[in-house]
Amino acid sequence: DILLRAKNLRKQYQMGEVTVDALKDASFEIYEGEFIVVLGPSGSGKSTMLNLIGGMDTITSGELYYRDQSLHGASEKELTFYRRNTVGFVFQFYNLMPNLTAYENVKLSVEIAKNPLKVEDVLREVGLEDRADHFPSQMSGGQQQRVSLARAIAKNPEILLCDEPTGALDLATGLQVLKLLRKFNKEYKKTVIIITHNGEIAKMADRVFYIKDGKLSRIEQNEKPLPPE
Ligand code: ADP
Ligand code: ADP
Repeated sequence: DILLRAKNLRKQYQMGEVTVDALKDASFEIYEGEFIVVLGPSGSGKSTMLNLIGGMDTITSGELYYRDQSLHGASEKELTFYRRNTVGFVFQFYNLMPNLTAYENVKLSVEIAKNPLKVEDVLREVGLEDRADHFPSQMSGGQQQRVSLARAIAKNPEILLCDEPTGALDLATGLQVLKLLRKFNKEYKKTVIIITHNGEIAKMADRVFYIKDGKLSRIEQNEKPLPPE
């Protein structure tokens, strides 16, 4: 089934007198359970696209649907519900609350979700059951990113949106995180969308969306997506 559908999706930023076309007329469909990588250079519009899909930013023009729900026409209340329950976010720099433990960071996200998983289960899933009481400053980058992943997964979202999830990690640690993302995709049949400028990550995707200068210029199917290794 089609999970997300965009038609002539556009985002403009107004900077005083200047209008920036961050995303121009993007049209695409994303199916349930796909593993999508959005690849493009810095400043090409990747985050803009992810923020629109995540209901985190307003759409300038065009259409964006999640199933049969229109996100371009949604009220702030509907968008809040969508952000809390349908999508989970993973960021390059983790965005954890520094004054909360791993457990508390994850707990915070499940408290407002409609159908969450158990915090303990999710921490075990990402291999951090023995780090539950640690604060972010007491953990490595890879561990912090796994807490961030646990926080996103714990809401039990249908879609996981990842903005350069391995961008701040060394190769081996990044692969650990990618393996978890792949597992979440394959075993739990969740849709994963990763934005990156790393072509190696694109080899793992079912489909690769190429973005350049705000244009979705090409969509490529991978016949044999590689496992992370
Ligand atoms: P990427 O994620 O590929 O690095 P972005 O989506 O962040 O690219 O940015 C696309 C373009 O939109 C860039 O030219 C960027 O400067 C501009 N842009 C992004 N966010 C804003 C904003 N909040 N205000 C003004 N311009 C922005
Ligand atoms: P609230 O208004 O109650 O804080 P939001 O609607 O802003 O809730 O966010 C709902 C969910 O979306 C949160 O559980 C969080 O995981 C995610 N989210 C939205 N924006 C961000 C962000 N900038 N950083 C981290 N998570 C975010």
